[in-house]
Amino acid sequence: MVGKSNTFAPVECALRQSVYWALQPVLIGISLYSAHTRASLDSHTLFIIVAFCLITLLEVLIPARPEWRKSVRENLALFGFVFVAATAYVAIEMLYEMSIFKWMADLSTAWQLEIWPSQWPIIAQVLLIFSAFELVNYWYHRASHRWSWLWKLSGHSAHHAFKKLSGLNAVANHPVEAFFLILPRAIVGFLLGGEVVGVAFVSLTTVTAILAHSNLNLNSAIVGWFFTTNRYHIHHHSQVISESNTNYGCVCIVWDRLFGTFADANTQDTGIGNKQPSYKALYLMPFKR
Ligand SMILES: [Zn+2]
Repeated sequence: MVGKSNTFAPVECALRQSVYWALQPVLIGISLYSAHTRASLDSHTLFIIVAFCLITLLEVLIPARPEWRKSVRENLALFGFVFVAATAYVAIEMLYEMSIFKWMADLSTAWQLEIWPSQWPIIAQVLLIFSAFELVNYWYHRASHRWSWLWKLSGHSAHHAFKKLSGLNAVANHPVEAFFLILPRAIVGFLLGGEVVGVAFVSLTTVTAILAHSNLNLNSAIVGWFFTTNRYHIHHHSQVISESNTNYGCVCIVWDRLFGTFADANTQDTGIGNKQPSYKALYLMPFKR
């Protein structure tokens, strides 16, 4: 490991400083620049994969909390959980495409909802759909924490059950939660349209969510007035319920600032108990009485 040797201490220090100040602003900048140049779906996909690999490598080299480093076995188990979640997400999205999305698209055409400002610069359009999506998601997320029936039914408790966070936890959701997570995007799409900026929006959202769960020392001063940083989101994953009932914006923190749920404070322990439940227990969460 870099930090173990004095020879590498200056290199580690420089790397930590670079990551602390530049990683999130640079990745957000690349995503917005790609939007501006109307990069292809393949380019955005490649960007997400490279960003994820870079963040994961940095988490191994210079973790903010070394005790959060996962063993190979823990990583494989988490990958398996994410794979099931991703498969469920794709299947449920297809189900929605054939039913409710189709119905909403027909309704949108019939009502001639053409309020999307397609004449705006593309970066402004991406930031608009990003904020609009997050506004709907903010209220869903807040409700899922405040209403016990939704907390249980949505399986959101499974996402909060992890004791060690890393970038991959951004997509570590119960498969059932896909039913709820896809809907805010559909509602925003129905009201605003804006499919043209959809790909760029997905890349900006995904990379910001990975950073928000990452085990890295990142500063909140440069982008934290608008984008969620991991200091804010890890606080939302706090084991203390009053701390967890803050910072509902997973990628955009503006709505928390506006609706009074913003918190900027240190976080001791994450999770929903003193121990992380087994994966079997995680899967059973929405169905337990
Ligand atoms: Zn939450």
